[in-house]
Amino acid sequence: MLKRPEARIIRVKKAYYLTPNMIRVTFSGPELKGIPSGREGGNCKLTIPFDGQNYQAFVEQMQQGKKLPVRTYTVRAYREKKLEMDIDFVAHGTEGPASRWAMTAKPGSFCGFRGPSTAKVTHFESDWYVIAADMSALPLAVVTLESMPRDAKGVAVFEVATEADKQLINAPKGVGIYWLINANSHVQSHKQEVFIRKLKWPIKRRVQACVAGESGVIKSL
Ligand SMILES: Cc1cc2nc3c(=O)[nH]c(=O)nc-3n(C[C@H](O)[C@H](O)[C@H](O)COP(=O)(O)OP(=O)(O)OC[C@H]3O[C@@H](n4cnc5c(N)ncnc54)[C@H](O)[C@@H]3O)c2cc1C
Repeated sequence: MLKRPEARIIRVKKAYYLTPNMIRVTFSGPELKGIPSGREGGNCKLTIPFDGQNYQAFVEQMQQGKKLPVRTYTVRAYREKKLEMDIDFVAHGTEGPASRWAMTAKPGSFCGFRGPSTAKVTHFESDWYVIAADMSALPLAVVTLESMPRDAKGVAVFEVATEADKQLINAPKGVGIYWLINANSHVQSHKQEVFIRKLKWPIKRRVQACVAGESGVIKSL
């Protein structure tokens, strides 16, 4: 059985709005030592401190195994030599502890970190690819597009909150990128499904799909 990775407490180097509803948090420091490179797209468990909790109290609470909010996130980028890691957080309001934490994160802010798992999608052997994601799965989808062979072909469809939440993606030229706007991410959307149903699928060719996001939407996809 695989050993559960140790929990670390990691610190923020900088945090900024990448787009109006996406915050990039860059963590750095010796606490990241030992994380192997190539884990972009892997997921991790973040333990979120209570509002205003100081470092010492957080460390003690982690050590005593007391209940703190834990949420799953994706490693967007990891620079092993610089011991820096980026995680992109959807800023979906202050109700959720992780979103709230990211919205107020600044240099020196901290959280618990466990993981990351290995990258989710590593084998690209198909003739055509379909990538679909909402904003919370955009980090995984973008990493997947960046990792694909440069001659890959297919479509990627993303649902984001506003026009300004579109991101520049280093995708293969043969993968068409389509953006759908859904201002209300609290209500299940069918936009990706409608879009994908209308696609002309290349019959008799191998298709590989990477769909991620809210579970109801994934099921419909
Ligand atoms: C494998 C995996 C990888 C993930 N990677 C990322 C990632 O890289 N970046 C990222 O931002 N999220 C990612 N997520 C999603 C993230 O785990 C959830 O959005 C999480 O619930 C956020 O926690 P919270 O404390 O902010 O909100 P919660 O306390 O979980 O929820 C509070 C309220 O906010 C709503 N809510 C939660 N998430 C969203 C959202 N994305 N949009 C709109 N409303 C929401 C809930 O419905 C609830 O009403 C990932 C999830 C999985 C399973």
